[in-house]
Amino acid sequence: MIHYGRHDISEADIAAVSAVLRSDFLTQGAQVPAFEAAVAARCGARHAVASNSATSALHLACLALGAGPGTRVWTVPNTFVASANCALYCGAEVDFVDIDPATGNLCVDALAARLDSAAADGTLPRILIPVHFGGQSCDMRAIHALASRHGVRIIEDASHAVGAEYDGGPVGDCRYSDITVFSFHPVKIITTAEGGLCLSNDDGLAATMARLRSHGITKDATEFQRAPDGPWHNEQQALGFNYRMNDLEAALGLSQLQRLDEFVDRRRKLAARYDAALAGLPVTPLRQSADGRSSYHLYVLRLPRRDAAWAHLQARGIAPALHYIPVYRHPYHAARGYQPADYPGTEQYYAEALTLPLYPGLSDAQQAEVIAALADLPA
Ligand SMILES: *Cc1c(COP(=O)(O)O)cnc(C)c1O
Repeated sequence: MIHYGRHDISEADIAAVSAVLRSDFLTQGAQVPAFEAAVAARCGARHAVASNSATSALHLACLALGAGPGTRVWTVPNTFVASANCALYCGAEVDFVDIDPATGNLCVDALAARLDSAAADGTLPRILIPVHFGGQSCDMRAIHALASRHGVRIIEDASHAVGAEYDGGPVGDCRYSDITVFSFHPVKIITTAEGGLCLSNDDGLAATMARLRSHGITKDATEFQRAPDGPWHNEQQALGFNYRMNDLEAALGLSQLQRLDEFVDRRRKLAARYDAALAGLPVTPLRQSADGRSSYHLYVLRLPRRDAAWAHLQARGIAPALHYIPVYRHPYHAARGYQPADYPGTEQYYAEALTLPLYPGLSDAQQAEVIAALADLPA
């Protein structure tokens, strides 16, 4: 079976993790700060706070921006459930903004309309979480302009977009957001096995996230709220979590980061080949904006007889995937009363979408098999 994604682990990655296993620190050593510094430098952001998943990173980001009971958080339905769950962990309410079915990303017109009506009836969200679907940045200039006008803070869920560019800079520079979140799950662009990271240019937000990641405890004397009991002093100042990344994961991340450009180049090359080979067929790849360059976490097609195409690919030894079941369709979320009819762009997209295999180790011959199967779709 040819699957939609697969991690790529080198001998250098294995050596980097082995070296940590033989060292004095398995966690809370030098690797995590080194990985944070490397990702921050690569993205041109002031601060990076690594955590044990993007899910926990999103939770930390929501808490730092004040999500809690009585506040609202908006995201898109075309995402992994974690983009919505992070707000529910804080006791906030979640609502969704529709997507543009042509890109899979947040629809700026839908956002503008929703913000106007929320401003009119006093139900503005505190936080908006746009998701850079498949590795292509949302229209962050427009989203930031709209959100700022209404005092709405922004967390970019860039779980798919490590290595992507937007508006002449790297995704992760937080030019148009308060915090950007990356995922390093094995299906994503680079991996730490499990892991995530928050980027921010705001000193206070970064310090809050770093504290909450480790039980809400600080050991920094400049932050103490009372006179130290002695040289051992530390203070728990908030209810935090154990959301720390460990040194094995960070060492893997540092090693993988060295191949980020290679991974993204290979993904873009495979995507360009799909684009060219599928151009004459009755299928529509996601529209790519000229404002940036996708990292191509996913290669998604829209096609009229999607279910038949799915079965056809399966029969040819190719396992397609579907990104995503709209969050409001999951029973847990559906119980909160969302109406699919409120999200026509998402519903249309969901009826037609299919994700093709795309990962650095996908061989030219395997890709040719996928293309041949698509050229031979049942009428
Ligand atoms: C993978 C993913 C997450 C969660 O990432 P984890 O690191 O597995 O917690 C969140 N949002 C999106 C859009 C994702 O694709």
